[in-house]
Amino acid sequence: MMENHRVMILGTGPAGLTAAIYAARANLQPFVVEGNEPGGQLTLTTEIENFPGFPEGIMGPELMDNMRAQAERFGATFTTGWVTSVDLSKRPFHVTVNESDEYEADTLIVSTGASAKMLGIAGESELVGRGVSTCATCDGFFFRNKPIVVVGGGDSAMEEATFLTKFASSVTIVHRRDTLRASKVMQERARANEKIKWELDVTPQSVLSNGKTVTGLEVKDNKTGEIRQIAVDGVFVAIGHSPNTKFLNGQLEVDEVGYIKTQGVTSATSVQGVFACGDVMDPRYRQAITAAGSGCKAAMDVEKFLEGDSVHDWSMAEAAQR
Ligand code: NAP
Repeated sequence: MMENHRVMILGTGPAGLTAAIYAARANLQPFVVEGNEPGGQLTLTTEIENFPGFPEGIMGPELMDNMRAQAERFGATFTTGWVTSVDLSKRPFHVTVNESDEYEADTLIVSTGASAKMLGIAGESELVGRGVSTCATCDGFFFRNKPIVVVGGGDSAMEEATFLTKFASSVTIVHRRDTLRASKVMQERARANEKIKWELDVTPQSVLSNGKTVTGLEVKDNKTGEIRQIAVDGVFVAIGHSPNTKFLNGQLEVDEVGYIKTQGVTSATSVQGVFACGDVMDPRYRQAITAAGSGCKAAMDVEKFLEGDSVHDWSMAEAAQR
């Protein structure tokens, strides 16, 4: 007999774990699939100073361990594995984990998050959390009066660079072409900022370090081939995110970038009984607290749905009214 669950939650970032806490407290005994990066992106950062309730800050992994323990306390159960495929064509849904473990679920909460794209250059992955960051909001504060680099030419890079000038002594935007992808308004804002310097039409080669923390970024000038070293204490990689939706194989409606579309103010997706929360459906805010909030909404939507309330219909009606 295949294991059947009333609620299956895919992913254990703040969205998935908050959904698990709420669903467990509603007596729905959620079954949670924890992937290769348990705790999600927060486990890649160090101290979190903007999650309400922790005036002295809290380490990312500790916050996630706490959320997990809280979900377990109310009866959530976990399995470790990678969701390889799902069949959403009929209920109960069918979920395959690690290619071979099969489960049935009456409802699904997709909270598989998004992953920051990385450059894939020497030194980068080893120095994450020691000068290399993918999150200005999380880590900007640690670079007070220090020179840093932001890599990327899109809106995120402009926004992060502008934000980081509040802390850093200087911010150098490093971009692989001589024209930016960012919208005009974001470019203009960055160009008007005196703390921002530009290294355009260069290709990042490696992140430099003193063995412990970042000391610079080596770049190659695309026109002259010259290799230059930019001395900085921090390298912020802002070259975009990818929502983790591959396993869905096109069964849920997504936007042009691949983020799952939700309806109205709810977490309802294009398939009845499937709900989405956290970074996998949020290209905009991407904060631990917003992800947690959306996880709460998903669990409440599931509860209503299982009671026979057509969350999908009212969310559609509501969306139409807006
Ligand atoms: P994006 O628009 O895809 O830009 C990514 C940037 O990174 C591009 O400049 C790209 O270079 C560069 N890049 C990609 N891969 C690279 C690599 N391997 N090495 C070096 N550079 C690389 O991503 P985004 O800036 O995160 O924005 C995503 C979406 O969110 C966009 O639609 C954006 O408008 C939106 N957004 C809006 C706001 C806002 O309005 N406040 C803020 C942030 C984001 P190329 O240009 O050469 O491809």
